[in-house]
Amino acid sequence: MISLDRIQKDFDALARLGGCAEGGCTRLAFSDEDMAARDWLVSAMTAAGLSVRIDAVGNICGRREGDTDLPAVMLGSHLDTVPEGGHYDGVVGVLAALEVARALNLQNVSTRRPVEVVNFSAEESSRFGLATIGSKAMIGQLSVAVLKKLCDDRGQTLYRVLLDRGLAPDDLASAALIPGQVHAFLELHIEQGPVLEDAGVPIGVVTAIAAATRFKVVIEGHADHSGNTPMTMRKDALAAASELVLAVEQIAGQEAGPHTVGTVGALTVAPGAMNVIPGRVELWIDLRDIDSASKSVAVQRVMEAMTRIAEKRGVKIGHELICDDQPVVLSAKIRAEITAAVKTSGLASIDLPSGAGHDAMNMAAVTESGMIFIPSIDGISHNVAERTRMEDVFFGTQLLSAATLRLADQ
Ligand SMILES: [Zn+2]
Repeated sequence: MISLDRIQKDFDALARLGGCAEGGCTRLAFSDEDMAARDWLVSAMTAAGLSVRIDAVGNICGRREGDTDLPAVMLGSHLDTVPEGGHYDGVVGVLAALEVARALNLQNVSTRRPVEVVNFSAEESSRFGLATIGSKAMIGQLSVAVLKKLCDDRGQTLYRVLLDRGLAPDDLASAALIPGQVHAFLELHIEQGPVLEDAGVPIGVVTAIAAATRFKVVIEGHADHSGNTPMTMRKDALAAASELVLAVEQIAGQEAGPHTVGTVGALTVAPGAMNVIPGRVELWIDLRDIDSASKSVAVQRVMEAMTRIAEKRGVKIGHELICDDQPVVLSAKIRAEITAAVKTSGLASIDLPSGAGHDAMNMAAVTESGMIFIPSIDGISHNVAERTRMEDVFFGTQLLSAATLRLADQ
């Protein structure tokens, strides 16, 4: 039986590792807080009777043997957080997976296939600027060169950090799974949006995961005196940036697909003085969609907008592609298993897409991959106010358990 008491105890223990005084949690990938959370998880897995292995980039797997050596059912998520994030994003999926395996052991339930609980390294992009690093390594989509290039804001490379944490970045290739090595992957996660709460249902069966295309944009105008430069003779980089910000909003909202979203969430202005015309702006554009074609349209239109604005204002606009991930349709087979488990458990569910990226989208490259959402109160996430009712965590864990049993006995 799934125990809400045990899950709550795990939550309380983890919440102390990186918990902020004002609520929420800061547990950046491979920080001291993240390392403490990893140590905690290894102990909890061991106590639950799982055999633990840690791969070259620190992905932690706790394995429960099955009656056969058939490929395992893998379930999990991530323990790292954004700065001043919540206690639920990622954590729910790891703790629920741990509870599923622990409950199987406590009840002496045998399954045909092994069950593996996983904590992926560095799911959040906050520290190294690249998301889902652990699962990218697991599907063979990372290179040592990239590990050496990715840097945090103190100039430490991911490669160096991995070495310092006792991991083996040069053995990166050993972390990669081959297709078929895992039977299925399941991730329970908070929705991080308002749809489930709005619909009044506790479970979302995720259909597809949107992917991001991100750019760093540099606009170079001319920094001049704000008093002596006539309005007709300016090359104001911030005014150009403002047009671009509005163009991104217009393109995502009106011109691309029904699920396209576009955001400029960060912008720096130089020299940044009240009496100097802004000479240089750096900004970051994040475009997402569950449909590749619509996303390509959005990217194309944003490129056109940059050219148009640069010509019109006589500024230089350069861009650098940071990532161009492909949207992923999740396994129809796993969705059917989750939906069947929803029916037998008497819960209500709706199907919905995920606007955020998750490890499950990478795992789809090597196995049948599925995702279950539970509601986020007021849709809030990546924020200290992120909350999910423990009752919903309980329902989600029960469903994860039921779906895991169906898949593990195949
Ligand atoms: Zn997450």
